[in-house]
Parts: sequence; structure tokens; C-alpha cells
Amino acid sequence: MYILVINAGSSSLKYQLVDKDTRELVDKGLCERVGSDDSFHKHGLDSNECVVASRLPDHRAAVQAVLDSLLDPRTGSISSLDEIVAVGHRVVHGGEHFSASVVIDDEVIARVEECIPLAPLHNPPSLAGIAACSELLPGATQVAVFDTAFHTTMPPKAYVYPLPYEYFEKHRIRRYGFHGTSHRYIAARASALLEKPLDELKLITCHLGNGCSITAIDKGISVDTSLGFTPLEGLMMGTRCGSIDPAIVLYLIETLGMTPREVNDVMNRQSGLLGISGLSNDLRDVRAAAEAGHERALLAYEMYSYSAKKYIGQYVFTMAGVDAIILTAGVGENCDRMRRMIFEGLEPLGIIIDQDKNALRGFERVISAENSRVKVIVIPTNEELMIVEDTLALLS
Ligand code: AMP
Repeated sequence: MYILVINAGSSSLKYQLVDKDTRELVDKGLCERVGSDDSFHKHGLDSNECVVASRLPDHRAAVQAVLDSLLDPRTGSISSLDEIVAVGHRVVHGGEHFSASVVIDDEVIARVEECIPLAPLHNPPSLAGIAACSELLPGATQVAVFDTAFHTTMPPKAYVYPLPYEYFEKHRIRRYGFHGTSHRYIAARASALLEKPLDELKLITCHLGNGCSITAIDKGISVDTSLGFTPLEGLMMGTRCGSIDPAIVLYLIETLGMTPREVNDVMNRQSGLLGISGLSNDLRDVRAAAEAGHERALLAYEMYSYSAKKYIGQYVFTMAGVDAIILTAGVGENCDRMRRMIFEGLEPLGIIIDQDKNALRGFERVISAENSRVKVIVIPTNEELMIVEDTLALLS
């Protein structure tokens, strides 16, 4: 019996099929450019990966294509859809309604719909994926796992913005935080690696990829996080600017004559590593250019690391200390140079990186030196596994 994990984006749908008992990854794939004429579907584990010819006009067609591939006698891994007992859906925004994963029913769907204005790009595709799976897999339990849920433990001083209070009361304008499933996973893994229960630890978890967020976790609960009302606040990211003086937005509109839509596009798609380097949002490209002497690529690289350093510093103070700092996602897991820059000069504060361990790649490991008071740990994230665990817990 299997759990299907679905992560539906605005024009994509990623999936994994996981064995319910062994947690083994049995199959996976990705539908890309859903809704456009050049859509395609990659199916299969790494060595068996193949591109399946598919027209995918919408997310229902994508789910149908996924199920067809899973059932295909040559490429698939199941012989009947009844073998899929549950589907775990990643849902980006659950607002204030959900502090944990839930079995999906009509009320849950209505609540996720209510959050559409807060996540107009993310929640509609999740809802489309849920509707398609409910229709095509009527016997399977559908579960929603929210990116926001882990952060519902933050205290008001961390989530209320210093605007007139009625903006919070009437319009629910507040910090929600995202990447919660990733932060929860790496915190749990860190606790296991350190052989200490979460409720005895102060952790700072850093999800550094194309999107970035840093979370302060005190005794296992999220007490502050860098992403805010939307996934734009906080650190500089691949194409997102992160926190800037809000008056810049007014200046762009009123003085430079840009429309709100243009400003939104600039802040979300043309800023960050891409905007500063003028080259790419991919840190590998920026790093190569920086090493070849490209000045703006070097600046972009330095700004990315400085922004991470600032948030880590804030949370050390707000939690009055830290036992371990954990890094994950594309950059956090893979880029030794970025990790070195983030922690450079922090030795007097008891954070000492072992550069030999830092240079290794690809598995969970402590990269701080034996004499480092604060442990620094690299943990590859596994949001899908968390979704499977939550789904199984709700099934039982
Ligand atoms: P993610 O959003 O977690 O998929 O992370 C994507 C980011 O990770 C991109 O900016 C990639 O350039 C970066 N990344 C992946 N592998 C490496 C690597 N070996 N060195 C530097 N950056 C990397």
C-alpha cells in the first residue's frame, strides 16, 4: 500500500509515491508547464526517468497523467489505484485556521479558498490538485499539509506588524511564515542527531535555496520566522528582494510611474541574486561569475550571505542563545563557500566551522568544529517524508 505526495504549483505538479510501511520512495515525477502547449511530464526514479508525451491543459489532466504513468506496466509501480490509500497535499497557505495537518473535507476546502487572496499563486493550484485527486482516487483519504502550520505558535509580538492594529484585526494582515514543513523536518532531525529532545534545544533553522527563510525554534516551537504576510519578506532570495524600506514601493509607483503590478513583478521576479548580478538567480552561475571576477556577481553573493547572517544574529538575541544552527535546501545543503561566508568571523561568539567537514557534500552532518560551542549542522530537507508521516498519522 502506498501514499501519494502531491505538490501542485501554479504551472507544475511534483509527486512521489512512498511505501506506507517501509517509507521507501517507489516512484516520482514532475509535470511542467501545465496549462501551456509545451507541457511535459517526467516520470520515474533517477535511473529510470523518462519523459512521457502528454498534453496537460490543467491540473486535472496532470493528475490523470500521473496516475496513468503509475499504472503503466512498463514504467509504473502499481497495478491498481486501490493500492494508493491516501494522498498528502502540500498546501502553501492555511492562514490562521490550521496549526497542523488535517484530513480534507468540504470545510477544509472552504478555508483554503478563503486564503486565496493571501496566496493567489499558490492556493488555487493546490485546490485543483485536491479536486482532481478526490475525483480520480475516490477511495483514498486526502490530507492537507500546510507550509504555514508550523508557525502558528509564534507569539503576537513576532507576528503582528506595527501598523494600526485594525489592519491585523479586520484584515488579518500579519506574519504567517512559510517553509514550515521543511523547518519542522530539519529541527526534528537535528534533535535526533544531537541526541537531545527538542524541548531542551534552541535552534535556528535556515532554509536557503531559491526561496529563503530562517526560523527561531525554542523548545520545538517556532517563535519567529523571516517570511511574513507573503513569501516576499526577510532574506534576499533568488529573484525576490526580501525586506526593503517599504517607502521604496511608493517611490517606484509615485515618482517613477510604475504600476503596482510592475512593482510586484520587480520585487518577486527580477530582484535578489538575479537583480543584483544581472546574470542569474541560480547561485551556481553567480558563484562562477564571482570567482571569475564579475563585480556585481560578487556583490550579489556577499549580500545573500550577509542577509542570512543578519537574521541568524537577530534570532540568537531574541532567543537569548542558540544550541544549533541548521542549514538546508539547495544553497544551504550544497554550497560550502556560502556556508563559510555566513559563519566567517563568528569564532568569538562560539561558532567555529570545521572547513574539512564543510567541504563534504550530500548527507546529514555536523560541520562545526569539536570546540564550537554552537553546533552547525547540514541536513538535506525532506518535506515529502514529513507529508507522508503526517498523512499516516491522520490515517491511523
Ligand atoms: P532550491 O530552491 O532549494 O531548489 O535551491 C536552488 C538553489 O540552490 C539555486 O540557487 C542553486 O544554484 C543552488 N544550488 C544547488 N546546488 C548548488 C551547489 N552545488 N552550489 C551552489 N549552489 C547550489
